[in-house]
Amino acid sequence: MDLKSIENIVSLCKRRGFIFQSSEIYGGLGSTWDYGPYGVEMKQKIKDFWWHDVVTSRENVVGMDAAILMHPKTWEASGHVSNFHDPLVDCKNCKARYRADHVDLNKPCERCGKKDWTEPRQFNLMFKTAIGPVEDSGEITYLRPETAQGIFVNFMNVQGTSRQKLPFGIAQLGKAFRNEITTGNFLFRTREFEQMELEFFIHPGENEKWLDYWCEERLNWFKKLGINPEKLRLRPHDKDELAHYSTACFDVEYEFPFGWSELEGIADRGTFDLDQHNEYSGKKQQYFDPQTNERIIPAVVESSAGVDRTFLTCLVDAYCEEEVRDKKRIVLKLDPKIAPITCAVLPLVKKDGLPEIAQKIVEDIRTKYSAFFDQGGSIGRRYRRQDEAGTPYGVTVDHQTTEDGTVTLRDRDTMDQVRISTDNILSELQSRIQ
Ligand code: ATP
Repeated sequence: MDLKSIENIVSLCKRRGFIFQSSEIYGGLGSTWDYGPYGVEMKQKIKDFWWHDVVTSRENVVGMDAAILMHPKTWEASGHVSNFHDPLVDCKNCKARYRADHVDLNKPCERCGKKDWTEPRQFNLMFKTAIGPVEDSGEITYLRPETAQGIFVNFMNVQGTSRQKLPFGIAQLGKAFRNEITTGNFLFRTREFEQMELEFFIHPGENEKWLDYWCEERLNWFKKLGINPEKLRLRPHDKDELAHYSTACFDVEYEFPFGWSELEGIADRGTFDLDQHNEYSGKKQQYFDPQTNERIIPAVVESSAGVDRTFLTCLVDAYCEEEVRDKKRIVLKLDPKIAPITCAVLPLVKKDGLPEIAQKIVEDIRTKYSAFFDQGGSIGRRYRRQDEAGTPYGVTVDHQTTEDGTVTLRDRDTMDQVRISTDNILSELQSRIQ
């Protein structure tokens, strides 16, 4: 897949209602995207799959949902006010701005071809905002640049009420905002995005064991999403790449058309965050260990993934252009778990009672999966629309259905069709979707 494919994916997303440019009727807002009907279904399925895998299926992980606006001291304690910077350079000639670590300053500006850079300077990535009606006298705070701090400041509340014992995790899913200097590659780097984060609290000294554990778990999760394992890897950070709080970190990376890039960071954060909140709030952030009768500040292993980056990865990985009987077929080979529509139901013709039978089948399927009724256009055209939307299964109701109660079930990837009884549609779908 080449870079052109990203453009093809952007246009497919618009054509099929996955993603639209934000505020498009006003000319759009750069690098900001809205999820349409299919996009929001697929995104929700990715989030649900994460929540189930990381929270609901585990005894030792609980969830929470903190406010986006937090007390400004949070961001002093976390180090974001003083450390959450990227180095910024401007091209003095054309005024283009770049992250200094993303361009070679010995080479000319790629936009205008002149070599006239400003000195790199630090730029804080947090969006500032004022709380209260009068901007000047209002309290300044920030839109959260990560969901993690909402978990740390609630450590005592959640541990106290859930009565979890170490090791245990607190997970959260929600929006984060970063005033990125350069955005791009569609959903890959935007200023508003969603994160899926887990803070796993452990006895200090067990960091390595749990870092290894979560690296494996998280890499497996991406594989279970149906992403090609050969395009996934775990990459350890070099010492000079580590964030200010971290002593060891691995990135889960995917091989995009624009190169290997991060989907998730899994980091050993030590006791940094709870230590900092302990100090800045003056409120003890401690865990009473019933085995040793001691109060300790737990260490933390974090897993932090981007919802939108995962969404983009699923699309890029699933996008195929094939030749079928001398015609181009565009198909999204999405895992059935995350396809916006699980099954399309298509009456062969708009008469002879076929649409009514199809509607009834749609209702049945909807008790368990998402289903879509489509009677517009030739059957071939309707299949192609569903292939582009990534719908893994199609049921066609034809005249034989009225005679013997059977329908055809079509598989998106192989395009094979089998005849099955209407009564068996749900169980057949169930057996095909693990
Ligand atoms: P990068 O190096 O790409 O800027 P990061 O190391 O700053 O990312 P983290 O702070 O580790 O990212 O954030 C965890 C995850 O949140 C990332 O792996 C990514 O999936 C997601 N994420 C971070 N920044 C963005 C962004 N601007 N747009 C979309 N997703 C993002």
